[in-house]
Amino acid sequence: MIHNAKVLIIGSGPAGCTAAIYAARANLEPIMICGLEPGGQLTVTTEVENFPGFAEPIQGPFLMEKMIEQSKKVGTKIIYEEVTKVDFNSKPFNVYTAKDQYIAQTVIIASGARARWLGLDSETIFLGFGVSACATCDGFFFKNKPVLVIGGGNSAVEEAMHLTNHASKVTLIHRRDSLRAEKILQDRLFANPKISVIWDSELLEVIGTLEPLKSVTGAKVRNIKTQRISHLDCEGIFIAIGHKPNTEMFKPYLEIDPSGYIKTHPGTVNTNIKGIFAAGDVQDKTYRQAVTAAGTGCMAALDAERYLSSL
Ligand code: NAP
Repeated sequence: MIHNAKVLIIGSGPAGCTAAIYAARANLEPIMICGLEPGGQLTVTTEVENFPGFAEPIQGPFLMEKMIEQSKKVGTKIIYEEVTKVDFNSKPFNVYTAKDQYIAQTVIIASGARARWLGLDSETIFLGFGVSACATCDGFFFKNKPVLVIGGGNSAVEEAMHLTNHASKVTLIHRRDSLRAEKILQDRLFANPKISVIWDSELLEVIGTLEPLKSVTGAKVRNIKTQRISHLDCEGIFIAIGHKPNTEMFKPYLEIDPSGYIKTHPGTVNTNIKGIFAAGDVQDKTYRQAVTAAGTGCMAALDAERYLSSL
């Protein structure tokens, strides 16, 4: 079946939902295609304490359920499918799901990013119960507790620095003997007395208890050069080995930076194609917060409205 849309939104995290709410309230009758994980990355976190408006911690899935509900209530058509293909070669733009084709005058891409994981079974078991990929979101839960950070890039160093505000001790574990992070960040890391680094090492297993509540108690770590295995006590493990923006299908049409993020003109949500906007983590490798994603989602809807009225 073929559908027409003034505003088609790809993705249903904070960026997609905020774009939907603004576009619907501007009577643009947006269609939001949710993707495989409706609500996006927040649906795999537990407590959220940094989204303004909630004095008590809320659950990530609850927050996203409310955002989708609000999008619907103000007039967004929600499609619980995945976008399989786009064609941005001509206007209007074409977006496809397995079942349908959407002909859209504007497209807001809010398809987000995924944290990269190591792929350990134990990492999956304790995800949200001591294992996290977001220190800003979860660091607070590790007050005066020892934590590990895995990775050696800017994110790992920034996560480690942030965690020193909460944790009793932060140990960074990196698979090589030098960091990829910018020099200035490295200098700050090495100068911080709460942080120590274990070089040439990899996380083999997250150790924890399953009863009565799942919680992390330690980690099995192997030195890659000596093969020596050691056990480290810790209550939190932050995996910071990069993020992967969901941009594969846009690569033939849009300018993408070397890390895979959609390039937007500085200070805007404009891509290299007029009428196509990018909001949230798919274009943001620096902040990656729900509230910044919501902000750019709002910008995208306002700019889509301006673009439509200029046609
Ligand atoms: P990144 O620069 O790609 O670094 C990923 C780190 O994780 C690397 O040190 C890498 O090790 C390690 N790693 C990757 N796979 C691994 C695995 N399977 N096991 C163990 N370690 C693994 O990612 P990022 O730090 O998230 O940064 C992504 C981009 O965002 C970069 O362009 C970065 O500059 C940018 N960023 C900027 C800021 C800022 O400007 N303030 C903050 C955060 C991120 P190797 O070094 O051995 O490859």
